[in-house]
Amino acid sequence: MLKALEIAGFKSFADRTRFDFPDGITVVVGPNGSGKSNIVDAIKWVLGSQSAKSLRGKEMADVIFKGSQSRGPAGSAEATIVFDNSEGNLPIEAPEVHVTRRVFRSGEGEYLINNQPCRLKDIKSLIAGTGIGIDAYSLIEQGKVDRMLQANAKDRRVIFEEAAGISRFKAKKVEAERR
Ligand code: ATP
Ligand code: MG
Repeated sequence: MLKALEIAGFKSFADRTRFDFPDGITVVVGPNGSGKSNIVDAIKWVLGSQSAKSLRGKEMADVIFKGSQSRGPAGSAEATIVFDNSEGNLPIEAPEVHVTRRVFRSGEGEYLINNQPCRLKDIKSLIAGTGIGIDAYSLIEQGKVDRMLQANAKDRRVIFEEAAGISRFKAKKVEAERR
């Protein structure tokens, strides 16, 4: 369902770069420091990662390309995740759904769904139940399997509820009760 990732000015990727994820397994290989983990950081960032630390930086602006010997720093960073929605798994009537996050040096930023400005909340509810969110199980990083195994019953239940597609309805219920 994750079809592609496009990043520009994000960490070590100064130029606009597109990664396609065809069906099956995609493996990213490269020397140390070549930017493999930065690709995963970009996905987490678009999906709303709010802490610079979880993106291996000190502050949010650290995601913006900081310049190199041969070129100046970028003014903004952006990343777009392209979801394949040909089977209509996402509650939007479009064969492809583009989710974008952009941030400027001023600290201002924005989220977009198919180029329309939206709130992070809209992105979270869009992907709830798909298993793709930052707290879900599609992104399995070092240490995560351990954490899942050692989680207490309540935390583990959250993981299963996401897998079962229940979390989407729970989030809606909380929202409705607040009104
Ligand atoms: P390893 O195999 O060691 O895990 P990796 O391929 O995962 O390496 P990354 O951690 O993705 O490598 O990339 C680290 C590189 O990204 C470093 O060279 C770092 O200088 C660069 N980098 C991080 N943030 C920025 C930024 N804001 N601007 C420019 N370069 C950056
Ligand atoms: Mg790495």
